Parts: sequence; C-alpha cells; structure tokens
Amino acid sequence: MTPDKRPLTVGCVACGHEWTGLYLPMNISLAARAMQTMHCPMCGASSSDIRIRAEKGDDAA
Ligand SMILES: [Zn+2]
Repeated sequence: MTPDKRPLTVGCVACGHEWTGLYLPMNISLAARAMQTMHCPMCGASSSDIRIRAEKGDDAA
C-alpha cells in the first residue's frame, strides 16, 4: 500500500458490520465495479446492502 492511498470504510446495513472496502484514489470505474461485486464478509449480504461510510468526524449523515 502506497502512502497516498486512503482506506474507504464501507458498512453493511443488514448486520451493521464495517470494514475497509477499498483504497482511494482508485479508477472510478474500477471502484464502482469493486463496490458492485462486494459482499459483506460477516453476513454475506450483497452490494445492495453495502453503503460507503462517512469520514470520521462527519457523523452528520
Ligand atoms: Zn452484513
């Protein structure tokens, strides 16, 4: 992992599990593809139940 990469935390709305889904910056089409094929490692929920989590300190959402 290069120093300029930042982890993007994603969360599962089905079970509440959060994990690092991918690292940014990443090619946007590749990032979208990664999100679409992502499954929750905790409960196996499909990408439709996975949301990108807000940055730390930005809990307004
Ligand atoms: Zn889950």
